[in-house]
Amino acid sequence: MPTDVAQHAAPDLASRLAALVGERRVLARPSELRSYESDGLPGYHARPALAVFPGTRDETIAVVRLLAELDAPFVARGAGTGLSGGALAEGSVLLGLHRLTRILSIDADDARAVVEPGVVNATLSRAAAAFGLHYAPDPSSQTACTIGGNVAENAGGPHCLKYGVTLNHVLAITVLLPSGEVVTLGSADGERDGYDLLGAFIGSEGCFGVALDVTVRLARAPQAVRTLLADFSSVNSAAHAVSSIIASGIIPAAMEMMDGPTIQAVEASIYAAGYPVDAAAILLIELDGAAAGIDDDAARVDAFCRDAGARGVRIAAAPAERARLWQGRKKAFGAMGRIAPNLVVQDAVVPRTKLPAILAEIQRIAELHRVLVCNVFHAGDGNLHPNIGYDATSADETERVHRAMAAIMQACIDAGGTITGEHGIGLDKLPYMDALFTPATLGAMCALREVFDPGRRSNPGKVVPVHSCREWFAAPSARAGGAS
Ligand SMILES: Cc1cc2nc3c(=O)[nH]c(=O)nc-3n(C[C@H](O)[C@H](O)[C@H](O)COP(=O)(O)OP(=O)(O)OC[C@H]3O[C@@H](n4cnc5c(N)ncnc54)[C@H](O)[C@@H]3O)c2cc1C
Repeated sequence: MPTDVAQHAAPDLASRLAALVGERRVLARPSELRSYESDGLPGYHARPALAVFPGTRDETIAVVRLLAELDAPFVARGAGTGLSGGALAEGSVLLGLHRLTRILSIDADDARAVVEPGVVNATLSRAAAAFGLHYAPDPSSQTACTIGGNVAENAGGPHCLKYGVTLNHVLAITVLLPSGEVVTLGSADGERDGYDLLGAFIGSEGCFGVALDVTVRLARAPQAVRTLLADFSSVNSAAHAVSSIIASGIIPAAMEMMDGPTIQAVEASIYAAGYPVDAAAILLIELDGAAAGIDDDAARVDAFCRDAGARGVRIAAAPAERARLWQGRKKAFGAMGRIAPNLVVQDAVVPRTKLPAILAEIQRIAELHRVLVCNVFHAGDGNLHPNIGYDATSADETERVHRAMAAIMQACIDAGGTITGEHGIGLDKLPYMDALFTPATLGAMCALREVFDPGRRSNPGKVVPVHSCREWFAAPSARAGGAS
């Protein structure tokens, strides 16, 4: 059983870590650790015992080897934008990787790059743009989140509808195992001989070790792009438009939906994008590819939207307008800060054909529990993000929010869907794992984890419920199993 460093090893550990990375790079005071008590889902708080911020690969290896020697648990952290409580490090050492920001190489001919884990997603695309390339997975948090965090969560984003999620863009990872050993998973040429351990690592939420460097595939910029904004007087009509576009065989690069409350929050913010404020829903649909035929596809998408009841469809006339339309979408969570002081961001997936029914059910649940749900999501993937703004100082409101969220998640499961499309299980989704997986399947997940981390020290207490893994070390908040 790993040692809880908060109780046992902290004073000595802090000075030994400082000897490796420098005193300024180790935080031990509660006031200094406060900033690291939450990730992007601030309903959860848990104080790390210590935080350490290595600045190089060698320092990172030395830190993890010391933690292995002391049998101390740790949690890797990138930018802390995760939305499932995954980077919380209660009683553990928080291993901050945001200083490892070097782009080690960009190979324009083979369209790939090797990056350190703390490289910010959008920074990589900016650097690759000089070669007519970009990194396709584009989480809405891409101006802050790191490639290491993207790998750990198998992050998606609006353009993953056509281009695939992180898994489809990572060729190889150098992994620092919790034991301190360094292994290479996958290969730069994209071949995966032997067991697909790369596939197992991507999406393992920091429980299998630390991504030390990541080799990614880069994508060529498309020849032509068309961005359409379709305006609907009902959410149901917008959902039907999504189904008919996909059923037609057209695969948009992105197809995002925002409902009325979300539109109003965005338009009242500094991210105002010119969305119609009286719309019940909008679809932001992007087509890209060869110039030949793209206008025909845009005309067909326009017709599908109008047939489903769109009041109007417009095409962005210039790159600046396109950028503005996307900025409104990508900053929508931030804009919701205007509605209420606290926000629960949820993540679930349903089959696309179930979108009209599930959106109606979410509205019914919202009314039943007297909460305001704002929907902004990757509609083309059926990946929902029902968000509820609330005031956490009100116990009654907080309770209603939690009940509504649990009911929404159950409705998604009942609709044949699942409990996360891209934000991961972390702490937040632990209570739903039993509803999705048999004890035998959860046991197999525990066994796989032990291949990478036999001591169960890397991100303890996340992803698989404690009772599924005998003698599992878990953070107390995981055992409690709910947001505060
Ligand atoms: C406004 C907003 C919009 C978002 N939009 C999207 C979206 O469109 N799509 C999407 O998928 N997500 C989205 N997210 C969620 C979040 O940005 C992603 O999950 C992202 O991948 C997290 O990256 P991070 O660097 O912040 O990781 P963190 O939050 O720091 O960590 C997340 C997990 O990764 C692990 N980890 C971090 N670095 C490493 C590493 N080097 N090795 C091993 N494990 C590691 C941590 O232990 C933790 O379990 C959004 C978040 C916000 C706040």
